[in-house]
Amino acid sequence: MSAMSRAIRAFGGGGASRRNLSVAASKEAPALAAAAGLVAGRKAGRRDPGEDGSRVQWVFLGCPGVGKGTYAGRLSRLLGVPHIATGDLVRDALASQDPLSKQLAEIVNHGKLVSDEIIINLLSKRLEEGEEKGELGFILDGFPRTIRQAEILEGVMDIDLVINLKLREEALLAKCIGRRKCSQCGGNFNVASIDIEGENGAPRMYMPPLLPPPQCESKLITRADDTEEVVKERLRVYHDLCEPVEDFYRARGKLLEFNLPGGIPESWPKLLQALNIEDPDNKRSAAA
Ligand SMILES: [Zn+2]
Repeated sequence: MSAMSRAIRAFGGGGASRRNLSVAASKEAPALAAAAGLVAGRKAGRRDPGEDGSRVQWVFLGCPGVGKGTYAGRLSRLLGVPHIATGDLVRDALASQDPLSKQLAEIVNHGKLVSDEIIINLLSKRLEEGEEKGELGFILDGFPRTIRQAEILEGVMDIDLVINLKLREEALLAKCIGRRKCSQCGGNFNVASIDIEGENGAPRMYMPPLLPPPQCESKLITRADDTEEVVKERLRVYHDLCEPVEDFYRARGKLLEFNLPGGIPESWPKLLQALNIEDPDNKRSAAA
């Protein structure tokens, strides 16, 4: 049996494939309506997974360096669902006693790409375990990366919403080139101070640097592949692979495009607004 059919079989009787699409029928913005319905369902306290559309089955898309992991992580904590990054799944499997880890080590050690089938297999296993534990969904990060992966995923999972994070190219380039790592403590920093004038209706964009503490200053290193040329190539490869994935979800009314207006302090509240999610921190500070 192929890995793919095993994955499909694994989900055949699972509750994860059940769903309620009643809120996704809006013609204007089905993705937004789905998100709004989901949050409304949660507010009303209906938490029976799969029966009232209260599951979160979301995907995060976005260029390398856009901050996908950060926003996916924050949303997962806020909504109480796991943030599943496929890169972590591969690392975990490599470190485990799983029979797959030998096969994986072979692939990774030879610098080869881990196949779609293996990724789907790892993901299926992870989601199945989550389902057994009563998890109310997931936020995927780093998957699907190709149109083929999107098609396979569509066959085994109902994805409700795909959030496509976007950042102006100049800002993205500056952010990637400004990345630094402390060679001693491993801390991640960014020396780029981004201040781009508004144009074509887009407002001025300001993203302050994330500077290291004094003890790290002299130990900063730059990744060899964070040069302008390599970053540009990485973005080009990403776009070639991912534009069809965006089109795939756009055609199904599931794509929510979100232009990051700046750093986290500006972007986070706006993202929550776009998703129709109330920010509990704002509420708390308003109540205080
Ligand atoms: Zn340090």
